[in-house]
Amino acid sequence: MDPRGIRGADDFSDRSTVGLKREKGEMKLHGKIAVVTGASRGIGKAIAAGFAREGARVVLAARSEVKREGGLEGTIYETAKVIEDLGGEALPVRCDVTDEASVGAMVQAALSRFGRVDILVNNAGVAFSYPVIETPLKRWETVLKVNLTGAFLCSKAVIPTMREQKSGSIINISSLSADERDAGIVPTGVAYGVAKAGLDRFTYGLAVELGKYNIAVNCLKPKEPVDTEGMRFWAGEAERKGWASPDKMVRCAVFLAAQNASGVTGVVATDEELRLWHGLGGV
Ligand code: NAP
Repeated sequence: MDPRGIRGADDFSDRSTVGLKREKGEMKLHGKIAVVTGASRGIGKAIAAGFAREGARVVLAARSEVKREGGLEGTIYETAKVIEDLGGEALPVRCDVTDEASVGAMVQAALSRFGRVDILVNNAGVAFSYPVIETPLKRWETVLKVNLTGAFLCSKAVIPTMREQKSGSIINISSLSADERDAGIVPTGVAYGVAKAGLDRFTYGLAVELGKYNIAVNCLKPKEPVDTEGMRFWAGEAERKGWASPDKMVRCAVFLAAQNASGVTGVVATDEELRLWHGLGGV
């Protein structure tokens, strides 16, 4: 979740993309157009590839076009290649979710290429691990802007299209840091928990607003830490025990992406809860 990290050569998120080639009839998102923010690595990359495996064409929105010196692995073009190698279609678009013009241009690019947007995953996230007393205002604002305002801007940009289509699914990726009263599952700082709590509340409000347009709005959070480039930035090898692969998040995101307001909407849930409630398989 912090773009400043360093990590090794593994590419965890590709695991969930194995076996993209499937019959169209078996694909849960066949013909859908999805926008996934934070798709250059981690959970966003895995969800984007998982959507492609289910037949969606995917707009990959994040800032990394090339790997920066000392920065985390992963670019939008690398994710596009993963999808294309597996027979899917992706549109990588550089986008900073905190910048309204950048978000507007990204959604315009999606509409120019595909003519519609059916699914939005607000996945982009950052965290900074400072105690409040040491948190510079700029860092506080960045965390709120990426995790919360970014979801607002991206949702606002796709709502007109979804409203016209009379269907859509918006998925916000949140965290148990929003709920826990102690430090949370990882030491991601108070600003992060505040932003994710805001994202949960945003979900409830937006679901009410968009129900009449048949647009589902849900919020998905991992029950366990998920092994991603961002998470590896935070933790040493010893702390990685028990981390999950992104697979369960991908399965849940596919399930939520297939909803509209006549199905599941207004729900804030962990991947484990969705798995149990809806029989989504896996462990
Ligand atoms: P990650 O590996 O650090 O990836 C974060 C993604 O967000 C990157 O693709 C990054 O792309 C993007 N991003 C950051 N700032 C952005 C901006 N201004 N505009 C556009 N994209 C931006 O994180 P992750 O672990 O996959 O986490 C993904 C989501 O899951 C986050 O919302 C996180 O809070 C949530 N989550 C993760 C865990 C976990 O255990 N991994 C637990 C709870 C919640 P660029 O740097 O290329 O822009």
